[in-house]
This record gives sequence, C-alpha cells and structure tokens, in this order.
Amino acid sequence: MPTTSEQWFARARAVTPGGVNSPVRAFAAVGGTPRFMESGAGAWLTDVDGRSYVDLVCSWGPMLLGHAHPEVLAEVGAAIARGTSFGTPTTTEVELAEEIVRRTPIDRVRLVSSGTEATMSAIRLARGFTGRDVVVKFAGCYHGHVDSLLAQAGSGLATLGVSSTPGVPASSAAQTIVLPYNDRAAVEAAFAEHGDAIACLITEASPGNMGVVPPEPGFNAFLAETCTRHGALFISDEVMTGFRVSARGQWGVDGAVEGWVPDLMTFGKVMGGGFPAAAFGGRTDVMAMLSPEGPVYQAGTLSGNPIATAAGLATLRLADDAVYARVDEVAATISAAAAEALTRAGAPYRLQSNGNMFSIFFGDAVAGSAVRDYVGAQAQDSEAFKAFFHAMLDAGVYLPPSAFESWFVSAAHDDRAVQQVLDALPVAAAAAA
Ligand code: PLP
Repeated sequence: MPTTSEQWFARARAVTPGGVNSPVRAFAAVGGTPRFMESGAGAWLTDVDGRSYVDLVCSWGPMLLGHAHPEVLAEVGAAIARGTSFGTPTTTEVELAEEIVRRTPIDRVRLVSSGTEATMSAIRLARGFTGRDVVVKFAGCYHGHVDSLLAQAGSGLATLGVSSTPGVPASSAAQTIVLPYNDRAAVEAAFAEHGDAIACLITEASPGNMGVVPPEPGFNAFLAETCTRHGALFISDEVMTGFRVSARGQWGVDGAVEGWVPDLMTFGKVMGGGFPAAAFGGRTDVMAMLSPEGPVYQAGTLSGNPIATAAGLATLRLADDAVYARVDEVAATISAAAAEALTRAGAPYRLQSNGNMFSIFFGDAVAGSAVRDYVGAQAQDSEAFKAFFHAMLDAGVYLPPSAFESWFVSAAHDDRAVQQVLDALPVAAAAAA
C-alpha cells in the first residue's frame, strides 16, 4: 500500500494520463511531485505525507468559506441522509436557482454539473436563439474544455505550452474568432466584418485564467453594447468570479455600476460549495428556447443533484458581508506583503488584482506596465515563478502550480494561516530574484 505522495503518483500514472484527473494538478509547469491531499480544514490542507499547507488554491476558487465548514457539512450530511440522487425535481434546486436569480441580473437559470457544461450549453443556446454559428472569444480566457472555446484558452493550456488542442475539428475552430483582450479596435473590426454571422461573444467577466487581467474601465459595457448593436448575445462567464469577488459576482462590481446586463451568464465553483454544480441563465426570451419549453436540447442525469445543491445553497446563504470583508482583507494583506517582499528582494514583478483575486507576474518583461492581454501574460518569467512556487511549498504554502492562475483565499484564513504565508514570502521572493 503506497503511503507517500510520490508512491501514489507512481501508482496514479499507471492508470491515469499524467497521474491526474485535471492537467494543472500535475505540477507540469513547476516540476516535482504533486501532493496527494488527504484532508482539508478551514485554510489548511494536509497531504498523505503528513505535511500541512496554507491553501491558496481553494480548489481553484470554490472554497470561499474554507474547507469542511461545519454548517455546510451539516447541510450536506442531512441531504445525504435523505438519499443522493433521484432524477426528479427537488426543492433545493429551486431554492438555489432562486438565490442565483436574486443576486444577478438574469431572469431564469438552468443547473448543470460543471462550468464546461454551462458555457457549452450557453453557446448552443445562443446559436439556437440567433440562428448564427460564429462565436467570439478572447485569447487567454478559459471557458472550460468545450471544442469551440479551446483556442488560445490560457490557464492549463498555457501552463502546458499549447495554444490549442488536437481533437478539435477544424470546422469547429473555424467557427471561433479569437481576439486580444481589452482591445476595442479588434472587437469593432471583427464585428464590422462578421457581424451578421456572430451568434455570441463570450468573455470571462474579469479574466483569471491568464493570471488576473481585469477589464479596463468600460470594456464589458462596450462589449455588451457592441453585441446588442449587431444582434449577437453577450455571454458573461462568471464561473470563476461569480459569488467570489462579491455577493453578486463581477457583475455586482462592474455591470451594476456601469448599467449593462449580459444576455446570458455562466456560473460554477462557489455556487457548488465544493460539489459539482454549475449554471447558465439569462433573459426570459432566450431561456424560453431551452427544452422542454423550446427546441434547444440540453439535459443531465445529475443536474441539480440534491447534495451539490444543498452544499451550494448553504455556501451562498452563509456568504454574508462579513465573509466577503474577511476574504478581501486576507487577499489585501497577502498581496501587499508579497509586493513588499519582492521589492525588497529586488525581484521584478507585476502584481494584479481584482477584488480578492490576485496574481503575480514575474520578470523584467512584465514589471514595468499593466499586463492587459494574453501576449503580456505570456511574457512573464516562468523560471522565476517556479523557484517562488517551490520555496512557498517548502515553507508550507500551497500556491496554484502555474503562473497563469489566480491565487484564492477564504474567509477561514485566520491570522495564524495568514502569518504562515507572510513568514514564507521573504524566502520565496529571494528565490525568485
Ligand atoms: N469558465 C471559467 C471562467 C473557468 O475558470 C472555468 C474553470 O476553471 C470554467 C469555465 C470551466 O469550469 P469547469 O472546470 O467546472 O468545467
């Protein structure tokens, strides 16, 4: 029986490609053995080797309240005791859908099991509604592993050094226009040339999959307006930002202030409270196209699963103002300390944040000015990140094992956990210099 991460990794590689069930977990970009986690509590993860880490990944976003939150566990336990899946409507599905609709500008929502399913279904719906085929996306934005959305999709693909993937039919790629992020002229030009054929434009509401690269002021409003002008739907992907950067997601930060409303939105991560739950939703007339009301088919055996919806509902209900205030405070403290440590060590860097999401780009090439698109993000020094990552890991801090990811914190990151991160930073900064 294997007992260490190294032994489990060897066993995993024999039966699973790369030994992992999602590529960025493999430490491919940073080298070394991925840690096999045994348990999580609050801000902490413990691996099978018996080492504990302050978790700055938070399951890539979902764990807003931290691991094993007692009230979430109680709701999940009660749901499990009632049975695990019925394939019929259940009441928590309705309550979760109501909670999402209440917090966002959308009228109706459909629950699914992953963010990929949400974006895939939103695009099908946009195509069905408009009768058009072309999808516009931005380089560096990741929307899950949907065929038509994998071109220059940042995140895992950037980590592995591939710009797109074999297995996506040329006909599917041909229906996707990829543009540089934050580039209004490129958007204008694409719509001027192909406007009549464009079903939708999909964007991360504030990208976190090429590192954190926020929209320049007014960019999302400009995108919404451009889509409306050309009869295309504007899809705001809030799988990562939804219910994380604020109780109303990025839309609460940006759309509510600037006064625009997406035609469709996608959600995942936090709304599942650590379980597989995601959603897409939007305007009443668009959602009415969805089966069984309309002709656009979409379905799922485990969609709206009672355990996942109980966890998501508990998480959203517990995420009050105090939770967001704590998450924001922890992110601000850690990011300020990281900036100070890197400056002291003489390591060139650029820190970018969007509320409580933040990331650090290393190297001279990115230190001088804002990283505003994927080309800028790719100019970072991945060797410096590698050194920084391993120094943090050795000091008991678990960072995303890729330079193209946001760091995530939770409301359970107490002063002891934050202090362990602050203590690790000077050593890691010196390693990156
Ligand atoms: N959209 C965004 C913005 C994401 O960050 C992700 C995942 O990281 C997805 C979609 C896909 O979600 P999932 O991994 O649940 O399929």
